[in-house]
Amino acid sequence: MPLEVHQFPCLSDNYGYLIHDPEAGVTATIDTPEVDPINAALKEKGWQLTHILNTHHHFDHAGGNLELKQQWDCTIVGSRDDADRIPGIDIKVGDGDTYTFGNFKAEVFDVSGHTIGHIAFYFPDAEKLFCGDALFALGCGRLFEGSPAQMWDSLQKLIELPDCTGVYCAHEYTQANAAFALSVEPQNAALQLRSKDIDSLRSEGKPTVPSTIGLEKETNPFLRPMSADLQATLNMQGAELVDVFAETRRRKDRF
Ligand code: ZN
Ligand code: FE
Repeated sequence: MPLEVHQFPCLSDNYGYLIHDPEAGVTATIDTPEVDPINAALKEKGWQLTHILNTHHHFDHAGGNLELKQQWDCTIVGSRDDADRIPGIDIKVGDGDTYTFGNFKAEVFDVSGHTIGHIAFYFPDAEKLFCGDALFALGCGRLFEGSPAQMWDSLQKLIELPDCTGVYCAHEYTQANAAFALSVEPQNAALQLRSKDIDSLRSEGKPTVPSTIGLEKETNPFLRPMSADLQATLNMQGAELVDVFAETRRRKDRF
């Protein structure tokens, strides 16, 4: 039986995700942005919360940990390298580890940059990636703690995943990200098309998430420092990819 995913909005622009293995009877929330919508989603699906899988320590990702743990006595899985900032952590995982959730294996990647110790959970059999604030649809997380080189290392791990992999990021930032992406890669036809799709989805109030690794590789400027169009916009033809990435991130911060 497939891994079921239930997606719902939290706070102003976060997404909550419940993942459920019906055979094993386990349910996890990916992060804990907001307790009430998570409990409402559990009730709607008729699922019991057994696990919390945390990507990083920020309040809109781990802020509901303790309240949910108290209510459900669930197991909290988080980053070994950020354990001090993950409230209620029970199981510590790090880069290269495999965490078994029901009948599904999740590969853990360290994707530091937005924060140090940020992790992502990749379910190869379900072809799904839960990446928190590391990679967004058409964007990447702001570098609050890590260096551009660290973030570029992190994103390169995600580029390696199969194109069909679903990218379940934590925020609906896509429309604003598209405006920036078009400003730095105006000739990218796939990006122009995607931007129109995003506008129509948003005008109908529909989510633009999840996307796929394949689509991100074609259109997300933070995964495309090799793009001649991007390099030309930045006046960095032939520069090191990490430097093109760093300049792209700097420009987004000021956009
Ligand atoms: Zn964050
Ligand atoms: Fe966030």
